[in-house]
Amino acid sequence: MRNLGLGGWPARRAQMTPDRTAFTFDGASTTYAQFAARATKLAHQLRRAGVRPGARVSYLGPNHPAFVETMFATHLLGGIFVPANFRLAAPEVEHVLTDSGAEVLIYAPECARVVRELGERPRQVVALAEPAPGELEYEPWLARGADSPIDVAVGLDDTALVLYTSGTTGRPKGAMLTHGNLVWNTYNLLVGCDVASDEVTLITAPLFHVAALNQTLLPTFIKGARSVILPGFDVDACYDHIEQCGITWMFGVTTMFAELAASPRWAGADLSSLRIVMSGGASVPESLIRTYQARGLEFCQGYGMTETAPGATFLEAGESRRKVGSAGVPVFFAGVRVVRPDGTDAEAGEPGEVLVEGPNVSPGYWRNPEATAASRTEDGWFRTGDIAKLDEEGHLHVVDRAKDMFISGGENVYPAEVENAIFEHPAVAEVAVVGVPDARWGEVGRAFVVCGPGAAPTREELRDFLRPRLAKYKIPQHVDVVDRLPRTGSGKIQKDKLRETPLPD
Ligand code: ATP
Ligand code: MG
Repeated sequence: MRNLGLGGWPARRAQMTPDRTAFTFDGASTTYAQFAARATKLAHQLRRAGVRPGARVSYLGPNHPAFVETMFATHLLGGIFVPANFRLAAPEVEHVLTDSGAEVLIYAPECARVVRELGERPRQVVALAEPAPGELEYEPWLARGADSPIDVAVGLDDTALVLYTSGTTGRPKGAMLTHGNLVWNTYNLLVGCDVASDEVTLITAPLFHVAALNQTLLPTFIKGARSVILPGFDVDACYDHIEQCGITWMFGVTTMFAELAASPRWAGADLSSLRIVMSGGASVPESLIRTYQARGLEFCQGYGMTETAPGATFLEAGESRRKVGSAGVPVFFAGVRVVRPDGTDAEAGEPGEVLVEGPNVSPGYWRNPEATAASRTEDGWFRTGDIAKLDEEGHLHVVDRAKDMFISGGENVYPAEVENAIFEHPAVAEVAVVGVPDARWGEVGRAFVVCGPGAAPTREELRDFLRPRLAKYKIPQHVDVVDRLPRTGSGKIQKDKLRETPLPD
């Protein structure tokens, strides 16, 4: 057997399209041939550092070509790549490194302080710049690597990634994704999204998160197209790159699209090259989607999660107007059901838990058989913990996470619906709603609102605004105007933290 996993991709691409640009970063471009050569050298060095099939190699840092090199080099050796969220504090990074048992860590200078604070360290630490004593320096180390081809047998069922979930509902869980999971997810994306070989993809979401990595970088790479990598999300950098590089496709999360639309550059920017704007990972207010559509852009929503590699449903570009607000239909090679608590299928329009099965679904959580077992139904479907409805045409409409629903006076309230209504208020830039205990109603809604420039609405003004839009029991009793919302590294609102915020007297 040869390398059937991702490790084989760079050489394949170098053979097919050696001179095409694979990556552009900080003004410099790398062709597929150059990239494959670097990945091979790095793999030789990782092997010298003791990396064998199944060994874990971690990367800690903002988006950078070294992230991608480390991943493919690890896969050339049949190793498992464990990207860490660089926004985590030292004890959280240490959890990722020790939980996964990483043998090698490659890190960026932005993370030097965190790496210094680690109690337990991987056997070999490599710094992109300014190595501490005992550490290697990435570039000269890589340059010393051999050039001979590496041929390690890797199968599609071998684990490729241990990817930690966003940690929106608790401690991040390490989902194992096999090479097969990644290949099938790529396939599903290509079927749903028509990625072309002349695509210019903007990577601005963090690569340690499943969406940027598997939904944009891998499909772009397999087509031999070009990824423009930004270290992170920055409104001006996005506009500059969209205009200068002719970006055709970008993925983002709700906050990114809200910030881009709120920027003074929105009105005058040349967005004519953009073919597809894609979001996922959280619900997007319909009013925001319409703002993009009003600029003539296709705004596609997908629904998925780390454990499904991530695509579970996808709304094709042609449908993005007719089915605005929907997360689309199941991806080509996966099954999606919406079920009642007794496991029977919900009717069209009836909310229930989303279940997923298919070749993209993770075999389980890393070294956590209890969590793996708890995430499966008896017949092996993955339980997402999300509530959604299927409409008459089989399109999925995500309602909310089951954990975020609260019950007010006996009625179920899904915060996402309330957030959508509040977001329509012109002064509101961001919003999150949680349920809080209440002596009379059991629970009531509490809205945390971030306002744009201009006057923030008072509690009474906001409640008046919501009255024609929402049933009375859904209208938040409490309204807090705040400067910012607590977010995970992938940009999601940490509602646990909001629930813990004491109510003002
Ligand atoms: P954790 O599992 O650690 O609590 P997380 O679930 O946020 O964190 P991810 O795997 O990044 O980690 O996110 C997947 C989740 O994001 C889904 O289960 C769902 O709750 C939410 N999500 C994804 N796509 C959408 C969408 N289109 N609309 C609404 N919610 C979405
Ligand atoms: Mg989750």
